[in-house]
Amino acid sequence: MKKIDNSNSLMGTKTVWAGEKEFMVFGSTQVPVVLSVAYGYDDVDEWYDVAIGNKPGHIYNRMTNPTVQAFEEKLRTLEGAERAIAFSSGMAAISSTLYTFLRPGDRVVSIKDTYGGTNKIFTEFLPNINVDVVLCNTGNQEEIETEIQKGCQLLYLESPTNPTLKIVDIEHLAKLAKSVGALVVIDNTIATPINQNPLLLGVDLVIHSATKFLSGHADALGGVVCGSQQLMEKVYHYREINGATMDPWSAYLILRGMKTLKLRVEQQAKSAMEVARFLQKQECVEAVYYPGLESHKNHEVAKRQMSGFGGILSFVLKGEMEAIKVFLPHLRLGNRAGNLGAVETIYGPARTTSHVECTLEERMALGISEGLVRMSVGIEDTEDLISDLEQALNYLASQMNKTAL
Ligand SMILES: *Cc1c(COP(=O)(O)O)cnc(C)c1O
Repeated sequence: MKKIDNSNSLMGTKTVWAGEKEFMVFGSTQVPVVLSVAYGYDDVDEWYDVAIGNKPGHIYNRMTNPTVQAFEEKLRTLEGAERAIAFSSGMAAISSTLYTFLRPGDRVVSIKDTYGGTNKIFTEFLPNINVDVVLCNTGNQEEIETEIQKGCQLLYLESPTNPTLKIVDIEHLAKLAKSVGALVVIDNTIATPINQNPLLLGVDLVIHSATKFLSGHADALGGVVCGSQQLMEKVYHYREINGATMDPWSAYLILRGMKTLKLRVEQQAKSAMEVARFLQKQECVEAVYYPGLESHKNHEVAKRQMSGFGGILSFVLKGEMEAIKVFLPHLRLGNRAGNLGAVETIYGPARTTSHVECTLEERMALGISEGLVRMSVGIEDTEDLISDLEQALNYLASQMNKTAL
């Protein structure tokens, strides 16, 4: 089957068409789910050629699988990378990338606000193999610059961060890190390839938890790393041996979800902006974090490096955890769950979602107050989401008045 080059198409077209054609069989118009674990060869010479990589083909699903490759090809095209490699989860992609490139004695510079699981790798696992990790205050660019300039092998970024939606200047920090010879890695999960393409900003490796926006339907786990052929060869080798490969069923589900990625992300960003503006005006709400708000500390940087501000926002309720316990159960449109990026709106306090691994003190140090609620905006009609929030906030206000009396 002919390989179709979608590199010049626009994003919405890519989400629909990129990477699929060459994997179709029997004239199918949808990518088949190939579950066969092994691939057979009558000709031993051909078998050998495929096995050593001299000829295209498949040997065993831990190495390559056609359905997984179709997903990798779509992502590769969306991020404008030379190669993408899929993993069994976002955390598998993140940990495999770090373990592929880090050696004892290396120094990593990152930020305190990375995803909770990533933070645990930095604080718990990497020190075990004698890798020195420096976690800077995310909002303090000078501190990050100083630590990079002291020398490091790897700079690990995330922007926007979760759940407080902090923004770092990707292009500026990547350039500085390259000048000291460091590899630059970013978790692009929250932005999605629709809103942010870090390879264009000088980053070496872009990681996604495919579980979130890429899939969009909260029914499959997956992860992916994108970058140059040369770097990805190493990531691939780590995966083929360590085995955190994406499952073909998950690849299919995520591929299907990705067809609507641009539509979903645009609707989510539109609603998130309106919801953020609405929440800013509410009596019971102490703070709203969304990079699209002019009041956001790094709104200008966000505007420069993102083409949309995404579907995640968070807000702080006056009255902390007691208020959350009254407010959350009263919402009608939304799952209360530890996930994000789905078609349904999802609400969750940081202490049970992104930062469940952290102690109260650690969350405080990150500026995550106990009244913080993360909202992953779904694709429901904006007006319905706002009126649902309105009725739950009214209920909260009435309850708070009662206890005050
Ligand atoms: C969920 C998430 C991850 C981890 O992905 P899994 O697929 O759950 O392993 C990493 N980074 C960010 C920003 C996430 O939201």
